[in-house]
Amino acid sequence: MQKLSPATLGKLAKLGIRQRADLLLHLPLRYEDETRLTPITALQPGETAQIEGIVTRCEVAYRPRRTLMCRLRDDTGELVLRFLNFYPSQQKQLAEGKRIRALGEARLGYFGLEMVHPKCRAVEAEAPLNTGLTPVYPTTAGLSQILLRKLIAGALNTLPLEDTVPDSLLQRLELPGFAEALRLLHNPPPEILPDALETRSHPAWQRIKFDELLAQQISMRRHHRERQRRIAPSLQSSGSLSVRLLAALPFGLTAAQQKVRAEISADLVRAHPMQRLLLGDVGSGKTIVATLAALQAIESGYQVALMAPTEILAEQHFLKLRDWLTPLGVAPVWLSGSLKKKDKLVATQRIASGETMLAIGTHALFQAQVEFNRLGLVIVDEQHKFGVHQRLSLRNKGKVENSISKVKQGGNEPATQAVQVVRQETGEDANAVSPMKLDYQEPHQLMMSATPIPRTLAMSYYADLDVSVIDELPPGRTPVVTKLVSDTRREEVFERVRIACLDGRQAYWVCPLIEESEALQLQTALETFETISAAFPELRIGLVHGRLANEEKATVMAAFKAGELQLLVATTVIEVGVDVPNASLMIIDHAERMGLAQLHQLRGRVGRGAAESTCVLLYQSPLSELARARLKVIYENTDGFEIARQDLQLRGPGELLGARQSGVAMLRFADIEADEKLLDHARQISDTLLNEAPEIAQAHLRRWMAHTHDYWQV
Ligand code: ADP
Ligand code: MG
Repeated sequence: MQKLSPATLGKLAKLGIRQRADLLLHLPLRYEDETRLTPITALQPGETAQIEGIVTRCEVAYRPRRTLMCRLRDDTGELVLRFLNFYPSQQKQLAEGKRIRALGEARLGYFGLEMVHPKCRAVEAEAPLNTGLTPVYPTTAGLSQILLRKLIAGALNTLPLEDTVPDSLLQRLELPGFAEALRLLHNPPPEILPDALETRSHPAWQRIKFDELLAQQISMRRHHRERQRRIAPSLQSSGSLSVRLLAALPFGLTAAQQKVRAEISADLVRAHPMQRLLLGDVGSGKTIVATLAALQAIESGYQVALMAPTEILAEQHFLKLRDWLTPLGVAPVWLSGSLKKKDKLVATQRIASGETMLAIGTHALFQAQVEFNRLGLVIVDEQHKFGVHQRLSLRNKGKVENSISKVKQGGNEPATQAVQVVRQETGEDANAVSPMKLDYQEPHQLMMSATPIPRTLAMSYYADLDVSVIDELPPGRTPVVTKLVSDTRREEVFERVRIACLDGRQAYWVCPLIEESEALQLQTALETFETISAAFPELRIGLVHGRLANEEKATVMAAFKAGELQLLVATTVIEVGVDVPNASLMIIDHAERMGLAQLHQLRGRVGRGAAESTCVLLYQSPLSELARARLKVIYENTDGFEIARQDLQLRGPGELLGARQSGVAMLRFADIEADEKLLDHARQISDTLLNEAPEIAQAHLRRWMAHTHDYWQV
């Protein structure tokens, strides 16, 4: 690489090639077949092929643009080569009487069969054909295929291509060695079928995709392990508060809730930070599970922070947990950005002094001025709504504020206990524990999400987390009936809403999402509210939207919850978490504009009580093909995981995870859906490699890391 000009190096860097080894993994997009010649009469329109013939005529025509037209004849027939942009040298190369080999796609043009801008070269009669397919590499302006091929061939011949996957494993998975796979992909032998390469189903491609997935898994599993070296308080409690809470609840936990509760509880006892993602479909009952985890921390003398992405949801949690926990002597404190200065000060003081054990609020909880006395557990609801950076800042807060000196001031010495546990678990000599370790005590983290992530995505993107899944809904729910209704029948829908409300039911009217403009969305919500209020003077109607002052929002929500309002006109602010069991009818206006996960979340706001619920998806016709396919998925499925899986197929992982997650490494070659089997193997093997051959795992990672953003430690 040293001999290359800075300009060329810059272009290579654009392709992700920063060191010679990166050339190896710069794999062909496709291949050209210059191993054989096709007789001109045998050409099919649409076929890409190489032909050879003599130029019988070459002229510049104006039809209407300046075009170089060249007739080429072989023993079987004739065809036209056409060039729109050309150099005099090309014209010369294609002079009458020359023998030319041309590679291109045959098309049916005005003058019969033609090739537009074929790749041409002059040859001698009987010139030898290529013996293998010619690779075509992804490239960038000003970087020729010829140079790329030369550089790559050089790298292939001189760099070590040692294998990072054990032989026995390759045999079991029926995958070729690394060197063999690379050589084949860069220089396919003549007998290979281009199709197997182009669809990337060939074992050589499988090997590369496997390696890529393996690198991803190793990286994430390493972060996961690295966590086992950090220290968190061991939250051991007698569980008496939990027993009392459970006894007071009108329901018992489902088997799934019990299972995940046990998983979380076991993590909290350990002296290493938990980072667990609790996945459970809308309405599966995550809040109570989180509350029980909070009680475990509180009983052990540690504070808990519960954070939700919106004021509405955070406030709802606050009210619910206050109801549940006040009888147990635990009084949560509320903290949000909208609190009056004085109230905020009181709240932060109570948090800093350790007087309050449970703080509930929005991300205001994690702003710099909020100091925790002994933060032991952080719970983040609807974590997918938060960016990765918020996740990070939250972990750091625990680190800084919870240093050992602070803990010691508290009198108790849980950090010392933690260190002892670490010593036992790691078999470390007590004296060998570095003092640095004592300075770090991190809170445990429980992240919750109702956006069901398909298994493959969870494995790929959350492999650094432990995942618990609540896979059943509490009993006694009647499934929501979903109806797809065209906008042309709006009047009918109005009438149904009116009848339902007069019948004692409560309903949501969700206003159209207008992604481009919040102002426009607000305006639409106001207009909808006015239209509906005018149409139904006899109903008590409320309005919530993102711009409402928080107190007003809370008042409206409380009135709806208490049954004082019959109809709630709302923007998608009600999407997450809102829990009003008596609401049994939901209209979603312009449903075609919303994402599937969002529709599923919204629909989950009804069907929470015993009454039969209905969700009407009002759509504007005509629907695009994709919109139709998506609404069909929502219409036909109630299981959030199935919806997410189909969503993934329709949209691809990037969009499903949302822009916020786009910092997460995207795979270059593998496709987590199509290559699910390889992903499974990679997952298993990454652990084995890290255990048994960490230096090989490291080498493997290094080989792939140049292209992969190491963003996973967040
Ligand atoms: P989500 O998982 O969507 O956050 P919630 O925690 O809000 O769900 O629970 C939805 C509703 O189900 C709440 O009203 C909650 O009190 C109730 N619930 C939770 N667990 C059970 C259960 N095991 N049996 C009956 N109802 C339950
Ligand atoms: Mg919830």
